[in-house]
Amino acid sequence: MTFRAPLKDLTFSLSAVTGIERLYQSPAFPDFDADILDAVLDAAGDLATDILAPLNRIGDSEGARLENGQVIVASGFTEAVAAFADGGWSGLGADPAHGGQGLPKALEMAAYEMFHAANMAFALYPTLSQAAIEALHHHGTERQKALYLPKLVSGEWSGTMNLTEPQAGSDLALLTTQAVPDGDGYRITGQKIFITWGDHETRDNILHLVLARLPDAPAGTRGISLFLCPKYMVGEDGALGVRNSAHAVGLEHKLGIHASPTCVMAFESAQAELIGKPHQGLMAMFTMMNAARLAVGVQGVGIAERAYQQALSYALDRKQGKSILTGEAKAPIFDHPDVRLMLALSKAKIEAARGICLLTAIASDEQRIADDDGKLKRREDFLVPIAKAWSTDVGVEVASAGVQVHGGMGFIEETGAAQHYRDARIAPIYEGTNGIQAGDLVGRKLGDDGTAAFELIRDVESFIKNNHFPEDFYTSLRALAAGLSAFEDATQWLIKQKPIAPGDVSAGATAYLKLAGDVIGGYVLLKGAMVAQTRIDSGDGDAAWLQGRINLWQLYAAHVLPHADALLTSIRSGVTVLESLTPDSL
Ligand SMILES: Cc1cc2nc3c(=O)[nH]c(=O)nc-3n(C[C@H](O)[C@H](O)[C@H](O)COP(=O)(O)OP(=O)(O)OC[C@H]3O[C@@H](n4cnc5c(N)ncnc54)[C@H](O)[C@@H]3O)c2cc1C
Repeated sequence: MTFRAPLKDLTFSLSAVTGIERLYQSPAFPDFDADILDAVLDAAGDLATDILAPLNRIGDSEGARLENGQVIVASGFTEAVAAFADGGWSGLGADPAHGGQGLPKALEMAAYEMFHAANMAFALYPTLSQAAIEALHHHGTERQKALYLPKLVSGEWSGTMNLTEPQAGSDLALLTTQAVPDGDGYRITGQKIFITWGDHETRDNILHLVLARLPDAPAGTRGISLFLCPKYMVGEDGALGVRNSAHAVGLEHKLGIHASPTCVMAFESAQAELIGKPHQGLMAMFTMMNAARLAVGVQGVGIAERAYQQALSYALDRKQGKSILTGEAKAPIFDHPDVRLMLALSKAKIEAARGICLLTAIASDEQRIADDDGKLKRREDFLVPIAKAWSTDVGVEVASAGVQVHGGMGFIEETGAAQHYRDARIAPIYEGTNGIQAGDLVGRKLGDDGTAAFELIRDVESFIKNNHFPEDFYTSLRALAAGLSAFEDATQWLIKQKPIAPGDVSAGATAYLKLAGDVIGGYVLLKGAMVAQTRIDSGDGDAAWLQGRINLWQLYAAHVLPHADALLTSIRSGVTVLESLTPDSL
């Protein structure tokens, strides 16, 4: 089944949910306007459809392999990496001072959603490079920026993120990779595992960003520093020098994303330079992780969109049984309510997840033009773990529904539905597992007073209060209002428990993230439904498609939002029963 770039949906979300028009010709984005938005989305859609999507199955079946110390990528991937760089896609949101196009993150994320949908294993390669760009942009010296950023931004070189070690996954305090001073630089020794696109020959050079400990480092996370370790050393004039001793010594055999080389990396006294201040590497890495976490959320949306498109196409083609909806004796399975519900709910959740990711991105963009006492920064920080975890859970859920819609053929590799499910499964795990995201949300992001959550709740309330809705919105609006009230009650309860029963907060973290995501998802669908209604009323646009936005919001309100009360009950149940469930009692 061929991939169809969801341009109409993306353009609608960018406008109806984020109000991206506010950024047109703004001081932070002086060259950005509607024509650029359309041109970028069109070109990204073409790249995704014509170049990346056709390689998705090939990448899955061939995978990447390690031969004589060299990582060999699947057929066509080297050319695709070149096409990606030639198109300027690596620098879409990067600073024009380093060769980037300086476009809004919201637009960049919309383009990347299509790349992930077309070929998730491929799109990981620029995603990691972008995270490296962010880290260097914020924490590099002027020399480091001038020397390294233009090559990353142009896509001539790629970047990696080296955190994980066998004994240090979620808990980076346990990492043991060592960095010792050596002249003006450092030497790094240690092993990193699971490094995405850790090595390959498709680009001239790779810049590894590596977390390691200096000899005098304090124990724990405060003793971690960030280093830049090039595959080939780089002279002050930018010329490539000797091969550094950072090598891929193994490739993981994985459930999915086979074309993405996941490397075991050995650093053997490899030459490196410090990024940022000594012992403050984790803070620098957080810049990188925030960017990468939103990008992984977008990956969840992309893979869900792909799986949904495939399932819909199959459901319209496959004929089984009499339809209760149409009366047709040998009906397409799409006409059975159960199948249609699976597909429509998938679509509604994709739009909700897309909206949440784009809201996160626009909060980052608007900080650059708003004077708002830090509200948008708080909003971005609060939304990042929700965008990452809620959207990647949607990715798995929709890919699983996609397999189910295919029946037995979903379990057979030849349809491709199984690949989407296998590929989707990694996104809730890497970039901080979804459990770690939930902990971050109720911990750092909620803070002691829940300001960001309450600001968001008040904004949704104002949106509901200040708009005039047609009567057929009322039932769904009541469901959203009830969800919002559960979200507020849960926030208050968690804040109250924080100082007196932190175990309750941990136990409720995942349910709280889900509740927040469900409710914010409802809000973004309502925003879309409102714009759709206005356009229908003024006879502007495709009425049937616009009515679909309203119906999806109503479906979501009927099937997703009622879970809010159950989630609140679950959060309030606390940790007591869990404490009694010891291994002996299980
Ligand atoms: C395909 C792939 C690509 C990857 N790419 C990269 C990469 O490019 N760079 C890189 O550095 N790493 C990468 N990783 C590593 C990835 O980020 C880690 O696997 C992930 O952070 C989880 O760490 P772990 O596997 O050690 O699991 P663990 O930390 O052992 O976690 C296991 C389980 O315990 C839970 N858990 C652990 N600690 C807590 C806690 N404090 N509170 C609540 N629950 C907890 C987790 O949520 C999880 O469910 C990649 C991994 C894979 C599989």
